[in-house]
Amino acid sequence: MIKTHVLGFPRIGAQRELKTALERHWRGEIDAAALEQVGRSLRERHWRLQLDAGLGFVTVGDFAFYDQVANLIQLFGCEPARFGFSGEEPALARYFAMARGTPARPEQPRGQPALEMTKWFDTNYHYLVPEFDAATRFSLQPERLLAELDEALALPATPKVALLGPVSFLHLGKSHQTGFDRLSLLPELLKAYAVLLDKLAARGVSWVQLDEPILGLELDQPWRAALRQAYEQLARGEQQILLASYFGPLGENLELACSLPVAGLHLDAVRGGAELEQAARALSAERELSVGIIDGRNIWRADLDAALARLRTLRALRGGRLWVAASCSLLHVPYRLREDAGLDAELRSWLSGAEEKLAELRLLERALWADEAGPQTAADATLAQALAENRAALASRRDSPRVRLPSVAARLAGLGADADRRASPFAQRRPLQRQRLALPAFPTTTIGSFPQTVEIRAARAAYKRGELTEAAYRAAMQREIALAVRKQEELGLDVLVHGEAERNDMVEYFGEQLQGYAFSAQGWVQSYGSRCVKPPILFGDVARPRPMTVDWTLYAQSLTPRPMKGMLTGPITMLQWSFVRDDQPRAETALQLALVIRDEVADLETAGIAVIQIDEPALREGLPLRQRDWADYLAWATRAFRISAGVAADRTQIHTHMCYAEFNDILPEIAALDADVITIETSRSGMELLRGFGDFRYPNEIGPGVYDIHSPRVPAREEMLRLLRKAAEVIPADQLWVNPDCGLKTRAWPETEAALRHMVEAARELRRAQ
Ligand code: GLN
Ligand code: ZN
Repeated sequence: MIKTHVLGFPRIGAQRELKTALERHWRGEIDAAALEQVGRSLRERHWRLQLDAGLGFVTVGDFAFYDQVANLIQLFGCEPARFGFSGEEPALARYFAMARGTPARPEQPRGQPALEMTKWFDTNYHYLVPEFDAATRFSLQPERLLAELDEALALPATPKVALLGPVSFLHLGKSHQTGFDRLSLLPELLKAYAVLLDKLAARGVSWVQLDEPILGLELDQPWRAALRQAYEQLARGEQQILLASYFGPLGENLELACSLPVAGLHLDAVRGGAELEQAARALSAERELSVGIIDGRNIWRADLDAALARLRTLRALRGGRLWVAASCSLLHVPYRLREDAGLDAELRSWLSGAEEKLAELRLLERALWADEAGPQTAADATLAQALAENRAALASRRDSPRVRLPSVAARLAGLGADADRRASPFAQRRPLQRQRLALPAFPTTTIGSFPQTVEIRAARAAYKRGELTEAAYRAAMQREIALAVRKQEELGLDVLVHGEAERNDMVEYFGEQLQGYAFSAQGWVQSYGSRCVKPPILFGDVARPRPMTVDWTLYAQSLTPRPMKGMLTGPITMLQWSFVRDDQPRAETALQLALVIRDEVADLETAGIAVIQIDEPALREGLPLRQRDWADYLAWATRAFRISAGVAADRTQIHTHMCYAEFNDILPEIAALDADVITIETSRSGMELLRGFGDFRYPNEIGPGVYDIHSPRVPAREEMLRLLRKAAEVIPADQLWVNPDCGLKTRAWPETEAALRHMVEAARELRRAQ
């Protein structure tokens, strides 16, 4: 028996219908009933796709108006008490209050901040973090889920209900109570899950998929014991459970996962491919093994021949029984790519979005059936044709001159062993840079972008539509740059930036100018709530036909005698925020990116630019899920950065910038980047984050962010002064820079100017006190 399924399907809709409806609802333009109707029609459409693809089940429970973890908070009735819900509010209103925060009311004068949002494992999806404490109680509220189930049953379709499992739910949550052990809630939570499973079984649901992605992490003994306790208890009920692990190999958790008494186990065969046979042998014969062989995290067309070979081996090991699936929920890939208007036909034929992945699953199933069916039938001919087409598309990708540029390989092979090192150590570079730049103590700067105003976005949109000539667009952007430079001079900043007006996005801007990158028109992926991103597609060897930033930077420099900082996106961030080719190691692709950034650094330097910033906000988020894999990643990632910066002469000052906090566990590697100056996001931690740098005796210069750029709030001069004094307690004063946490593109000019004025005053006050 072969069965196919998916762990989850993108919910945002082919045209981002959910985004549109949500935002209209939040603006008060459509009521809850209209929003619910959009949700229903999206679910129905997505289930019909799954039915048409011949999947063994349609997956129910993967839909969410904001986030699947937030759904669980309501499903189990554990909304945090701090929101002060009376219970009279409609469930959907409470849901959005948790997701988006609540405004001030008389009884809650400051309102309530939203649930914290954090990255879902190593994806770019963000989930809402459940809050647990000793007062947390669970009370099952299954109405919404059961209603969705009834919709699927009415199609009619065979549903499989998919939910996050209890142990991952607790693991992903957090507690504000010190010393509180979230696992103490497990027994009560398990009771609620058990009741739910009984209800689902009573409605005739044959399978419930419980996701425990924490099986891909290094788990302490109590969490491993919790998994055992949970599934031993839940498996006692009527309901058959498919336990799903994804995003990595099971590793040391393999034995545990295979020994839990559940009816089926799903494994990520893309990232955990090496352990499939071992798992197939370890899992007892009466259980189902679900093999996630279609990549749920990336967009490349599957190699069906290779997948089939693998599946046939596994099927033999499993006595003929096997489930076939995508590795993880398809939430992480675009809805559809094979018809995308932004991509050429050849490129499109190499790609698979969620819809195309359903078709791939169907083909795999048909091929596995055909093995058993014996004599040739008419259906076999179409199957053979589909497999031949798959082969041809893969061959065209493999052999394409767009994918392999011999010059890039040659250059990498010839890279000198010292390409990742500056000519001299920091101690020798520093006086040369000081002499050249002649900056005051506590130099002030910003992170790069200035407000992306409505006018800037309108000009870019008009240019893209062809309504604005290139010359007119350039002139418009130059006016913005001139404005930013004038404002910075008036404010008295020391190292200026051009403001990034010409950039839509820090990765897309560079990607669009590089060979090896492509951009879909509709390849949207949900990032959180209604927010979607459209990651660039890095499909081939990377090369830079011409300089990418030199003209803009030189124009900006021509307007001022102060140093103008050239602004580049680093290789790891380019990699991390794109869909990356899977036909060579990521490390190799990172090196290619490093080379093009290196060339840009060289060109800026030759043009006379004295300060160059290479942003790496995504360096930390690229860390592998298991700590034991960190060293390998950090070695190639930091080397890629150093290669991009290593070309700079001693007298050129290299900056880097990182945000999203928590660097303390990778400080040696951050120091090894050997940037002359690093600017980081620290203000929300009240400079606590900087302590680690101090204890580590971080050798180079640091600009700890002195104000949060995520809100329009203008901090007072004294507030920043206080933070700077705190910084000076842990970092020697002559190493300190003064800057905001991050770029200012999401802010408006009035608050930006006011905040920067206070910041410059704070720096001046510190200089006077010296
Ligand atoms: N230079 C970029 C900016 O200022 C950095 C953005 C980031 O760190 N995410 O917008
Ligand atoms: Zn930043």
